[in-house]
Amino acid sequence: QRFPVVVVGAGPAGLTVGNILRAASVDCLVLEAESREFIEQRPRAGVMEEWAVRGLEKRGLARNLLDRAELHTACEFRFDGERYRFPYGELTGSHHFVYPQPLLVTDLVREYADVRGGQIRFGVRDVRVHDIDTDQPSVSYTCPETGEHRVVHCDFVAGCDGARGVTRAALPPERVRVARHDYGIGWLALLAEAPPSADCVLFGCHANGFAGQMPRSPEVTRYYLQCPPGDDPENWPHERVWAELQERLGASGVPPLTEGRLIEKRVLDMHDYVAEPMVSGRLFLAGDAAHLVAPIAAKGMNLALHDAFLLGDALVAHLTGGDDSGLGGYAEACLRRVWDYQEFSQWLSEVFHGSAAGDAFRAGTTLARLRRLFTSRAAAAAFAEQYLGTAAQY
Ligand code: FAD
Repeated sequence: QRFPVVVVGAGPAGLTVGNILRAASVDCLVLEAESREFIEQRPRAGVMEEWAVRGLEKRGLARNLLDRAELHTACEFRFDGERYRFPYGELTGSHHFVYPQPLLVTDLVREYADVRGGQIRFGVRDVRVHDIDTDQPSVSYTCPETGEHRVVHCDFVAGCDGARGVTRAALPPERVRVARHDYGIGWLALLAEAPPSADCVLFGCHANGFAGQMPRSPEVTRYYLQCPPGDDPENWPHERVWAELQERLGASGVPPLTEGRLIEKRVLDMHDYVAEPMVSGRLFLAGDAAHLVAPIAAKGMNLALHDAFLLGDALVAHLTGGDDSGLGGYAEACLRRVWDYQEFSQWLSEVFHGSAAGDAFRAGTTLARLRRLFTSRAAAAAFAEQYLGTAAQY
């Protein structure tokens, strides 16, 4: 079997690359380790930047999103017992879209497989990439139904298999550096069957630790609670979760949060990595496979889409017009935005976690940083641009 492109992984990055290729009538095969039902329900991201939505719209991939997403133009910080609304829409003229990742993945799979006629195999095992430094790479996998070992030959491999995939490990270590950062902090990630208690994202910067509220839909709300890294979610029974959320997100004049059943509860260890240069020979990584950014600033899926737009367009330009410039500049163009977002996440991490560091000096500088956002127009504008991803020309 032979395809011009094999895409490993059907997350936002891989499915977007696949859709761009199919729109240009380029054949490709997407290989996904999980089932279709599983990827269409896996809860994760929700906050999308406007440029990313416009990029999907331009490629015919945002119809449902534009009909159903909520628009957010403000967030609210809660610290020192008070609430401070931050109207980033007014400062930048731009806004966030809130659209749960499973809905986006469902839209992208449907469009790729059912509308654009793309090929996809779910539930594959033992995926390996071979000969990426030759012009005849291949990908092998085990077929779930028959246990048969298959080899697919191709011109290019798009490694879009997320943080726990196999393609990053195929980059030769002597040519690719993986830079890592560990915050030494955990977040208990929760999904509650409860309506949001405010119409926007809430950030609680509290001496007990950070807490966040991210609306997902009128029925479901994501919450985060800072906890020790590696903590056991079982240490967080229903009563403890809600007591800490009420405390850390409490502010004067604010009614208590609306509580509900917790339908997801897991601990994320906050860490980042960046594989540079994301490319070796005929293997091009995109999204979390290449770089992980802790969900502090809700950037990961946005970066995955940015990579996918560039990689999809570059593969089409090469395969249909012999134009190599996009592939040649791919890693550098992605990494500018990646490093910019990593830096912002690091900055924001101190705002979120500094008050709980157990260090009076860091608590003081954190409070100064927070207050500056509400006293200096220039500081507010800089924050708003970075939060919305409009800060730099990439
Ligand atoms: P993934 O979505 O991980 O997709 C990779 C796919 O590859 C998966 O379907 C996986 O099953 C498959 N796969 C893995 N291994 C193999 C293999 N060996 N062979 C074949 N297939 C394989 N980002 C935001 O922008 N905004 C947010 O609000 C936000 N909130 C988040 C909240 C949480 C709790 C978490 C955990 C993340 C959040 N993120 C957010 C980050 C975002 O979810 C990821 O950055 C995004 O999913 C990356 O997309 P991707 O396509 O690169 O990888």
